[in-house]
Amino acid sequence: MNSPFALRFACSIVLAWLISQPALGQPFPNRKYGQEDKFRQLEEILPTPNSYRAANGEPGPDYWQQRVDYTIDVRLDESQNQIHGSETIRYRNQSPHALRYLWIQLDPNLFASDSDANRLRSGRIGFGNRATMSEIDSILERQSFDGRCVIESVTDAQANRLETFTVDTMMRIDLPEPLLSGQEFSMKIKWSYRINDSKYIGGRTGFEMFEKDGNAIYEIAQWFPRLAAFTDVTGWQHKQYLGQGEFTLEFGDYLVRITAPADHIVAATGELQNPNEVLTDEQRKRLEQARTADKPVWIVTPEEAKENEKEKTEQTKTWIFRAEAVRDFAFATSRKFIWDAQGHRVNDNQVIAMSYYPNEGEPLWSKYSTHAIIHTLNVYSRYTFDYPYPVAISVNGPVGGMEYPMICFNGPRPREDGTYSSATKYDLITVIIHEVGHNYFPMIVNSDERQWSWMDEGLNTFLQYLAEQEWEQDYPSQRGEPELIVPYMQSTNQVPIMTNSESIMQFGPNAYSKPATALNILRETILGRELFDFAFKEYARRWKFKRPMPADFFRTMEDATARDLDWFWRGWFYTTDHCDIALDKIDGYMVDRRTPDEIAADEKNKKEAQLPTLSKKRNKELVKRADQFPELKDFYNQYDPRAVTDEQRAAYQKSLEQMTEHEKELLANTDRFYRLQFRNVGGLVMPIIVLLTHEDGSTKEIRIPAEAWRVDATVCDTLVITAEPIVKFELDPYRETADINRDNNHFPPVLEPTRFQLFKSQRRGSEDNPMSRAKRAQEAKEAKEAKEPSKEPSKEVTDKQPQAPDQGGLGAKKKQEKKKKKRQLSPGV
Ligand SMILES: [Zn+2]
Repeated sequence: MNSPFALRFACSIVLAWLISQPALGQPFPNRKYGQEDKFRQLEEILPTPNSYRAANGEPGPDYWQQRVDYTIDVRLDESQNQIHGSETIRYRNQSPHALRYLWIQLDPNLFASDSDANRLRSGRIGFGNRATMSEIDSILERQSFDGRCVIESVTDAQANRLETFTVDTMMRIDLPEPLLSGQEFSMKIKWSYRINDSKYIGGRTGFEMFEKDGNAIYEIAQWFPRLAAFTDVTGWQHKQYLGQGEFTLEFGDYLVRITAPADHIVAATGELQNPNEVLTDEQRKRLEQARTADKPVWIVTPEEAKENEKEKTEQTKTWIFRAEAVRDFAFATSRKFIWDAQGHRVNDNQVIAMSYYPNEGEPLWSKYSTHAIIHTLNVYSRYTFDYPYPVAISVNGPVGGMEYPMICFNGPRPREDGTYSSATKYDLITVIIHEVGHNYFPMIVNSDERQWSWMDEGLNTFLQYLAEQEWEQDYPSQRGEPELIVPYMQSTNQVPIMTNSESIMQFGPNAYSKPATALNILRETILGRELFDFAFKEYARRWKFKRPMPADFFRTMEDATARDLDWFWRGWFYTTDHCDIALDKIDGYMVDRRTPDEIAADEKNKKEAQLPTLSKKRNKELVKRADQFPELKDFYNQYDPRAVTDEQRAAYQKSLEQMTEHEKELLANTDRFYRLQFRNVGGLVMPIIVLLTHEDGSTKEIRIPAEAWRVDATVCDTLVITAEPIVKFELDPYRETADINRDNNHFPPVLEPTRFQLFKSQRRGSEDNPMSRAKRAQEAKEAKEAKEPSKEPSKEVTDKQPQAPDQGGLGAKKKQEKKKKKRQLSPGV
C-alpha cells in the first residue's frame, strides 16, 4: 500500500471544476498522423536571398532598379472628351542585362471593346431577373465605346520609326540595337484616346458631366504610354491590365505641360512651374498667404467657381508641372473647381496641402479635405518617413477613391440639399486619409501592385486605421479592429492574402482588411507597439524609393524585432486558417495535507452524497437471501476497507516527524494549481490570452506566446498558480485575436448571442440622414411661420444648417453665413 502521507497533489477541493468543456470529435491527432508543422520556417517558400535582396530583408549590395524620365505635352479636347499627347521618354538601363526591346503599358486599351478585360467580364446581369437601367447602359456602352490608345508614332530621338507590337494593354518597342547595362535610350511617342464617361464606365480615370450646368470634371490617370517595370524578381512585369491589379512602375522625373480650356483650374502631380501664366494676381496672392496660414485658405472661392461655370471659352492655357522621383503622374481639370490650400511643415519639408472640388462637394469638402490631408501627412510620417514631396492634393470628381503621387481622387459628396449622413462624412475623411496615405505605400515604397495588392492596400489600410483613431475619439473605423474581420475569417469563399491580385476573392477583406488587421494584431498582441513600430519604420526606411517584395517585408520585420514570425506570416498570409481557440478543460489541484481520518471521512461523505444507481435503488426493496439466512454473513459483511487503522495513523505521524523544514513548508502550501487545456479549432496558431477572475472579484491576465502550439498545433496546456481560488476564466477577453467563436472561450460557459445586421443597399450619400430631417423640419416650421408670423423668430436651427451652395438666389441671411464661413476658411483673404 502506498503511503497516504507523502506529499502529493490530489483533486480535492476543486473537484467540482474537473468538468471539461464539451470536447468535439476525436482524440487529438499528433504529428505521427501527419499534423502540419505551423512553425516550419518559411525559407522553403521565400525566394533565396541574393546580392540584390539580402537575407535580412534589406536591399542587397547589388540592388538595382531602372529609371525613366518623361517630358510630356498633353492637350485636353473638351468638346470631344479626348486626350492628345506627345512625350519623350528617357529610359536608363541600370540592370546588369542587355535589353533588346522595351515593354510599354497602354492602360487605356482596357477600354477597347475587345480588350482581355472586356472579354473576361462576367455574364451576370443584375440580381435575379432584375437589372437597373444604368447597368444596361453601362453594358451597352462597354460594347460600343472604344477608349483604346491610338498610337500615332513611335520614334527614336532622331525621329527614326521604331518597330512595335501591341499585346492587349502592352506594347513592345524593338530597339535598333541592344541597350546595354548603364546605357540610356530616348524615344518619342504620339498618341490620343477618348476619355471614358464615368456615368457609364467607371474606374480609376474618367470624366463626370454635370447635366445642370453642362460642365465636366476630368480626372485623368493611366493616360500616357509608360514603361512597364523591369525588375530583378520578375524581369518585365507585363502582366496584362485586367482592371483589378494595379500598377508596377519605375521612378523618374516628369515635366508635363497640360493644355486645357483657359477657364479650367488644373491640379496635378508635382509643382506648378508657371503660376504667372495661368493664375490671376489674386490667386497667386492667396496661394502665398495659404503657405503660412494655419487654416485652409480659398484660392478659388465657391462663388468664383460658380461664376466660372456660367460660360465656356475657346481659349486655352498651358499649365506646366515638374515632379521629381515619382513613379506616375495624374491630373484633374475643370472650370467647376473650388480650390483651397494650406501650407504645412513635415519636419524639414515644406508642403502645401490642397483640395479641389465643385460646389456640389460643399459644405463637406472645405471643412474636411485639406485638414484630412495634413492629418495624414503627420501620422504617416511619424510611422514611416517624412513626406518628401512639395504638394499633397485631394480632388473630388467621378473617381470614388484612387491614389497617384502627390494627388488623389476622392468621391464622397453631400446630398443636393447640402445635408449629409454621418456615413458620408466619415467615408470622406476615411477615403482621403487612405488615398493620401498611398503616397507612402506604394508611391514611395514602390511595391508591385499588379502582383501583390496587400503590399500597398494592406499596409496603407493599417496606417489609415492608426490615423483614423487619431482623428477623433471613437472614430468609426471600418477596418483594423480584430473583431471587425471575424465575418470574413468565418467565410468559406476566400483565398490566402498571398494570392495574385486578379485571383483574389472578396477583394476588400482580402487585400485591405485582413492584412491591416494582421498587422494591428502583430503590433498590439504579439510584438507590442514599441518593437513593431521600430521594425515597421525600418521597413519603410529600407525600401523608400525602392521596390520591396513580400519576403523583404517578412524578413525585415523579423530582422528588426528578434522574433521568429514565420508562423505568423505562414498562418495569416499563406493560409485561410482562422483563429478559434477553445478553453477545453480545467483541472484544479492543491497540496493534500489531510490526515488519514480526514481522507476517509471525505471519501465517505463523497460516496454518501452520490445518488444510488437506478438498479440499486429498485433492488433495495428485494428480499435478500443473506437476510433470510443470517448464518450466510461473516467477517466481510462487517468489514469497512476504508476504515483507518492505528497502524496507518502512526505511519502518518512518523512521516510528518521525519520531514525536513523545507518539506514542511511545501506541505503547508495553500496555492491553487490550475491546468488549463486549450484546443485549436480554427487552425491558426495565435497567442493565448486568459483573464482570470478570483473569488473576491479581482482579476489577473495571463499571456502565453503562440509558441505554445509549437509541438502540437491542435492542443496545448498551461499551469496557472494562484493564492486565491479562481471562479471565472475568459479567453481573449479584449477581443484582440479575431477569435471567430467566443462560445468556447469561457469557464464556466457563457453563451454570447450572435448578432446580424440588416441593411439596405443604397448609393453612398443618397441616404436620408439626421441633417436632412432637421432641415425638412425647419423648412416646415418656416413655411408655417410664413403663414402665421411668430413673434420669436427661430435662429438656433438655421445657424446649424449648412447652406446648399447650388441653390440659386442667396438671401441676405445666407450671404451673411457665407461670409462667416469664408472668414473661417481664409484668414488671409
Ligand atoms: Zn488603396
